[in-house]
Amino acid sequence: METIIRKIDKNQINQDVIEEAGNVLKQGGLVAFPTETVYGLGADALKEEAAKKTYAAKGRPSDNPLILHIPNSESIKSLVTEVSTTAQALMDNFWPGPLTITLPKSDLVPDRATGGLPRVALRCPDHDGCRLLLQRAGIPIAAPSANISGRPSPTTAQDVYNDMNGRISYILDAGPCTIGVESTVVEVHDDKVIILRPGGITKAQLETVVSTVEYDTALVNAETKPKAPGMKYTHYAPDAPMTV
Ligand code: AMP
Ligand code: MG
Repeated sequence: METIIRKIDKNQINQDVIEEAGNVLKQGGLVAFPTETVYGLGADALKEEAAKKTYAAKGRPSDNPLILHIPNSESIKSLVTEVSTTAQALMDNFWPGPLTITLPKSDLVPDRATGGLPRVALRCPDHDGCRLLLQRAGIPIAAPSANISGRPSPTTAQDVYNDMNGRISYILDAGPCTIGVESTVVEVHDDKVIILRPGGITKAQLETVVSTVEYDTALVNAETKPKAPGMKYTHYAPDAPMTV
């Protein structure tokens, strides 16, 4: 498979490139795209087949669910069965931004996208080019980081190319990501929020909006099974010799 790379200008986004990338997604192809955290490897979240391709390209264990990316908080309506006041408050305060929230999923979301879990993970990225792409595609985009599983997450299009050349259809290049740290993943309940994976939004920031914020017990006790399946796998393993 040939991997196409197309650049977009941050200040003057090339509409034709966004449209081309959106069409690849709509046709079930894999597109790597920038967000404010890291480059994501996107596919149509509502097609089982597309999620399969994502797992294969990354070599990712299929019990590790994907985050669905959407252009605004309105877009979650058909994907979840309920939006609590707490969930709404988090979206109002931290979206667009590096906060992923998990909510009870609707039947529209295939089991493969959530690794068979009853909740779906949702995020609205703080990146204009990315949100334009999500709008143009018109479908929720399931995207893990665009690296081979177990390797560091990519923050430039070149990083993506080095891992994914020949494995994916398209790379949308908007220059380096600004944050470089992954999103915070939280499970939202009516009266509290549980941090499943620490990331770009801190516990203290969450506490400005929700009074009870806890860490998943697996983050403080290694004996416990993590609620975010991805937390049990090795991350950030650079493939380089280390000297002390
Ligand atoms: P990545 O794909 O590398 O950005 O990682 C996504 C993280 O979110 C992983 O740790 C996943 O296990 C976690 N995650 C995604 N969906 C869910 C979900 N429905 N419930 C719990 N954790 C999730
Ligand atoms: Mg990752």
